[in-house]
Amino acid sequence: MCYAIPAKLIEILEGNIGIIDYFGEKRRILVDLDDVKVGDYVYAQGGVLVRKIPENEALEILEHWKEIFFQLKKTDEAISTIDQDKLSPNALAVLQKVNLRKSLKKEEILSLLELTDPAELKVLYEIANNVRQREHGNASCIHGIIEFSNYCSNNCLYCGIRKEKNTSRYRMSVDEIIAAAKYASDEFGFKAIVLQSGEDLWYDDEKLVTIVKALRKMGILIFISIGLRSKETYRKLYEAGARAALLRFETSNAEIFEKLRPGTTLEDRIDLIKYLRKLGYVLATGFMLGLPGETNLDIANNILLTKYLAPDMYSFGPLIPTQDTPLQDNPKVSKDLVLKTMAVSRFVDSNSNILVTTALETLDNTAKREALLSGANSLMINITPLKYRHLYAIYDNKAGMEDEIDVSIKETVDLLYSLGRSPTDLGLK
Ligand code: SAM
Ligand code: SF4
Repeated sequence: MCYAIPAKLIEILEGNIGIIDYFGEKRRILVDLDDVKVGDYVYAQGGVLVRKIPENEALEILEHWKEIFFQLKKTDEAISTIDQDKLSPNALAVLQKVNLRKSLKKEEILSLLELTDPAELKVLYEIANNVRQREHGNASCIHGIIEFSNYCSNNCLYCGIRKEKNTSRYRMSVDEIIAAAKYASDEFGFKAIVLQSGEDLWYDDEKLVTIVKALRKMGILIFISIGLRSKETYRKLYEAGARAALLRFETSNAEIFEKLRPGTTLEDRIDLIKYLRKLGYVLATGFMLGLPGETNLDIANNILLTKYLAPDMYSFGPLIPTQDTPLQDNPKVSKDLVLKTMAVSRFVDSNSNILVTTALETLDNTAKREALLSGANSLMINITPLKYRHLYAIYDNKAGMEDEIDVSIKETVDLLYSLGRSPTDLGLK
């Protein structure tokens, strides 16, 4: 994508860790390609070096960015200011700890989640944005997502593609998936792609490995999001070149988990998430908000469990009640609950990357912007071919169902520019 800045590899340290430079800003990344050396120009995504680029091409792109980069930084700094006067003494005391980079206790997290006064919430979000700016500068990342199959052998009570739901099903062939990724990479410059599906065993290890190897050759950071599959499958995919995995634990409350995900356990899901980390995957995990029976204490536990799992990226979003699922009448989740959770996650794990999920965008058309101003710093663009996109209906009124990729990119880039964000990689934590 034109909205991406090449970096210069300036050092390679032990353990394949490299230091890259963006106009004087340094980031640590994993150097995972054989033919790179200090002095090369590269693209990094999710803290992983994904592609080397010719020097003349890099210099041309950097020439375009050299002024814009510093202008964007100024815009971001100007927006990230705080007006602390509106805070109650209790919230102020908690947030002073955040400023001093001290860990928050569970009661303190709860007290922030319980804030309801709009003036206080406004300040809470501003502080989260300020912490994001302090930790990551104006770096932000955009990933593409290809939803390649809506077949699922599971029956999660909230999900619009659960096995028992009567809905039209599709599977993209291996060639179609590779072609969709190539189109996104060649035409729009995507360098990180999430491959997501229901739990669909039609894609056996051989098919998945073929897809991963093909995308890896294109210099793409591949995020696998295929749910509960065997450890062996995830190991083979890592060996084939997948370097990132998205697997939410959904809720830290085992009772709620087992009610909503029949036949699966929280323990197994967490065990798999830990295994993914151990294999070396860049990990994205998190939870849903607004599940029936959930309390603020559960949300505090969700945030703390995410931190404990030490992901590279937090991924959480509201449950969207969906027609013809057992949770169709669940109350709508408020946008403030999601933004509060975002802000508190930023305080609890200040260095984290926090994704704005499509489910949040579904709540209303300003939610994405507000999330980016409440601690979030990563976005996803749906690049599933349009003929399939409306069939991946995990929830009703999903955002971006009809948008052509170039339209989504323009909208996203305009939004990020207006907030002063730059497409530099965030590096390793
Ligand atoms: N099948 C895989 C899995 O469950 O991990 C990946 C695909 S699944 C559709 C991706 C995520 O969608 C789940 O982790 C869940 O949090 C979310 N999801 C499912 N139904 C939802 C709903 N009604 N509202 C919001 N998010 C939902
Ligand atoms: Fe299947 Fe994932 Fe939906 Fe559960 S959330 S029914 S595993 S697609």
